[in-house]
Amino acid sequence: MTLLLLSLLCVIPNQYKITCDGRDVLVEPERVELQDYVSLKSVAEVLGLSYIMDNTTQRAYLAGDGRRFVLIPNITSVQFNDSYYNMPFAPIYKNGNVYFPVQLITTTLGSAFEKLVFIKRIKEVPIINKVSIITREDSTILKFSWPRPVGFDVRFSTKRAIVEIDGVYKDKPTLKAKGAINSATLTPHNTYTSIELGLDGVNSVIERDDEVVFYYKVSDRVGSIVIDPGHGGVDPGAVGKKGLYEKDVNLAIGKMLRQLVEDSLKIKVIITRDRDFYLSLKERTNIANRNAADLFVSIHCNAYRKSSRKSGFETYFLSAAKTNEERAVAARENASLKFDDVEMTNDDISFIFYDLAQSAYLDESNRFAEYVQVSAEKHLGIPSRGVKQAGFYVLHGAFMPAVLVECAFISNPDEEKKLRQKRFRQQLAYCIYRGIRNYIEDYERRLNN
Ligand SMILES: [Zn+2]
Repeated sequence: MTLLLLSLLCVIPNQYKITCDGRDVLVEPERVELQDYVSLKSVAEVLGLSYIMDNTTQRAYLAGDGRRFVLIPNITSVQFNDSYYNMPFAPIYKNGNVYFPVQLITTTLGSAFEKLVFIKRIKEVPIINKVSIITREDSTILKFSWPRPVGFDVRFSTKRAIVEIDGVYKDKPTLKAKGAINSATLTPHNTYTSIELGLDGVNSVIERDDEVVFYYKVSDRVGSIVIDPGHGGVDPGAVGKKGLYEKDVNLAIGKMLRQLVEDSLKIKVIITRDRDFYLSLKERTNIANRNAADLFVSIHCNAYRKSSRKSGFETYFLSAAKTNEERAVAARENASLKFDDVEMTNDDISFIFYDLAQSAYLDESNRFAEYVQVSAEKHLGIPSRGVKQAGFYVLHGAFMPAVLVECAFISNPDEEKKLRQKRFRQQLAYCIYRGIRNYIEDYERRLNN
C-alpha cells in the first residue's frame, strides 16, 4: 500500500525554462546568496553557441557568429571580442562546471550574441493525487493526498464552502458528494485547484494538514470552550498607572480559568494563547470555529481615561451598543486591529452587527453573559456594572455563544492593585467559571425539556 502510494507521488522541482531560436532547455538552478545560477554549458547549447572550458587557465569560452565571449569563475570582468566589461555578479564554479547568473543571461549573453532569449521560472507545483470525501459518524471529511503538506485555504458559510489548494490536479475532475456535503465540484487550474462544496447541516469546520473536516452536531451537549486571554505580545492592552499590563492580567486569569474548567467540568478547553504573544482578533475567532467550540469567552480588563474612579466588573455580548460608554469600551478593545494594519471606519464597526454567525446566537450569548455577570455580582466584592452589549470585533464571526468580560478597571489605582494580586485573579477566574458552569447546566436543562 505504501509503495503504491509513493509511486503516485511526484513534484515538479524548481526549474528555469530557457528558450532561444526555437530551442529550449529545462535547467535546475544552483542558489548562492539569493542568486540563481544555471549551467553555462546548457545556456550555450540553447543559444546555439560553442562552449569550451579550459581547465588549465580556468577560462570558459563561448563562441558563435565570429564573436567570442571569455569569462573566469568568481571574476566579474569578462572579455567580449577585444573589449572588457564588468558584470554585477561573477559566474561561479561548482562540481567541475561553470554556472552563470540567471538574471544576466538576457542582458549579457543575449545582447553580446544578438539572441532573443526567454527565461521562465517554473515554480515548484505539487501535484495532488487524489481528493476524496469520507463520512464519519460526527463529520464529513474532504481528504487530499499529496507528497507533502501544501497550502490551502477554506472559506465557508453554513451552506457552502470553497477550498483552494496550491497544487495541480491531474486526474479526472470528479468528486462524489456524500454525508454533509451534498454537492462537490472540482475545478483544476494551471497552478491551483478549487473545490466548491454545498453543505447541509454543518456546524463547524476544522482544517488539518491534508484534510478539511466538516462537523455536524450529533450531540447538543456542551463539549468544549475557547478561553481567549485578550491582547498579548506587541499589544499590551490597557496599561495601569503603576505600569500593570492588561495582557498579563488577562493571561493569568485565562490560565486559572482553564485549570478550573478542566478540573471540574469535563469539557475540552482550548486556550487561544498560553504565553505572551500577539494573536490577531480574527485568528482568535478562527481558532474557536476551527475547533467547533461550543462556547467562547474573551477575557479583558477595563480602562477609562477621563476618571480613575470608575470601577467594577461587566460582561458583554455582541450587539449594537446602546450607550456611548459601551461604544467607548468596544472602540478601545477593537483598537487591537491597528497591530494587524487594519483600519476600522465607523462603517466597518456598524457592519459588525450584521454578523450572521453571532446573530444566530444572540439570545444564547445574552444568557451566557447574564450567568457570568450574576456570578461576579455574588462573589467578587467589586461593583457589578451589569450585562452590556457593543460591537466587539473579536466576537464577530464566532459560530457559538460568545461573551467578553471586562474584569475590573486597570485605570483605577485600587483595582490595578487588586488585579496584581493572585488571590483576586483567582476570584475572577472562579466567578467566570461559575458563570460558565451555570450557563451549561441551564442550557442542557432546557434541551431536555
Ligand atoms: Zn482588552
